[in-house]
Amino acid sequence: MTIAYEAVIGLETHIQLNTLTKIFCSCKADSWEDEPNTNICPVCTGLPGVLPVLNEKVVEKAVLLAAAMQANIQDLSFFDRKNYFYPDLPKGYQISQYDHSLATGGFLDVPVPASSDTGSDAYVRQVRIHKLHIEEDAGKTKKEKDRRYVDFNRCGVPLVEMVTEPDLRSAEEAGQYLIRLRQLLRWLGISEADMEKGNLRCDANVSIREKGSTVLNTKTEIKNVNSIDAVKDAIRKEIERQIKEVEKGNTIKPWTLDWDDNAGVLRMMRSKETEADYRYFHEPDLLPLVISPAWQARILEGLPELPLARRKRFMEEFKIPEYDADILTTERDLADYFEETARLYGGDAKKISNWLMNDVLRMRNDLGKSMQELNLTPAYLTELVKLTDDGKINSTIAKHLLQKVQESGKAPYTLVEELGLAVVSDDGAIRSVCEKIIAANPAEVQSYRDGKQSLMGWFVGQVMREMRGKADPQITQRVLKEILDK
Ligand SMILES: [Zn+2]
Repeated sequence: MTIAYEAVIGLETHIQLNTLTKIFCSCKADSWEDEPNTNICPVCTGLPGVLPVLNEKVVEKAVLLAAAMQANIQDLSFFDRKNYFYPDLPKGYQISQYDHSLATGGFLDVPVPASSDTGSDAYVRQVRIHKLHIEEDAGKTKKEKDRRYVDFNRCGVPLVEMVTEPDLRSAEEAGQYLIRLRQLLRWLGISEADMEKGNLRCDANVSIREKGSTVLNTKTEIKNVNSIDAVKDAIRKEIERQIKEVEKGNTIKPWTLDWDDNAGVLRMMRSKETEADYRYFHEPDLLPLVISPAWQARILEGLPELPLARRKRFMEEFKIPEYDADILTTERDLADYFEETARLYGGDAKKISNWLMNDVLRMRNDLGKSMQELNLTPAYLTELVKLTDDGKINSTIAKHLLQKVQESGKAPYTLVEELGLAVVSDDGAIRSVCEKIIAANPAEVQSYRDGKQSLMGWFVGQVMREMRGKADPQITQRVLKEILDK
């Protein structure tokens, strides 16, 4: 009999907050494109005689995240020194928070879609947050040939470290957690959350156990994974490896593993440090962090309706399917755009959703703009959809008009006038084109009259072509029938 295993996974994420300056000095925080060692000062490089000063924006952004997770925000927390030696850490310690962190508890609901691979239905995995704290980042080292270079630009860049409870059960769930976390971070406007740029980093703790068991077995830690796909691949590989080891009768050792994305393999880095190795103690150069009720209340005024709540409301209020609501709430500015347009339009919001999901999003992605930067405003999109509702333009023209509005920044009504895009519903104008087409195609006329009724579509097409798509199709068909059936 084969034993069924389940994975027990906890994720530790490091989130780079998008403040202008670093956490304890006024150096520029985002130096992704800058030359090495150009955004540094005595504070972030650990020179003697200077003191750190806390950037309050860091606290505000971290509190917003904690509130979105419904975590318990501590009115008193402490900074601690985490001592270790590494060339990218010029002070010889990292300022972090240890046993009194900014927030504890809370959770993130993670919808997991139905899977055709495993045959499972969609469900929601609630992932509990163990703790959330703020800390400074370390620098970077880079190896070239026989030398190793060090860049201190990243020293002192503000991070939130967030640790989940071991609530995830598969690589897929871990991937979905990161997708939802990234969405939330961008939604709150507190981080770019781009894994490739390293402003969202993830380590995964993985162990296995017999399905249904409640014990927590020895875990390994996977580091250095730089994309959501890599996290999923690495976890999948590690689960397989652990199952093989256990089935061979071996025990799992508490290794730290390094993911090599190019080779798609895990390598052992070292046996894991225990926390005592870091000799934590309270940072003597900083005061305890006190978040007064008034300050907390002021920060929380900036907390928006969250993505999953908005998704639910869109389904209820605008009667759109879950699939649409999910896409429309991937980004906050897209959700705002949809909501504004749907309200202006007032009719069937599914129509607005269709326009957005198909044409508008494609156009925006091609242009590489944000929703707010489009010339096609919610008011213009509303006008365009109403023009099609009223039969003033047909759907082909409407798609063309969409581009024209974006290019020119002019209102749809104005463009319909200027470019003569309105559907021709004048009987006489259509009749004269119909007569012309019929006169020019005697063979088709004969076939039709001999009973090949399906040619009607072809005649309509010819008239449409002649009138550059602007003939009212119903009138065209009626007029053609009148003449042909004579
Ligand atoms: Zn600095």
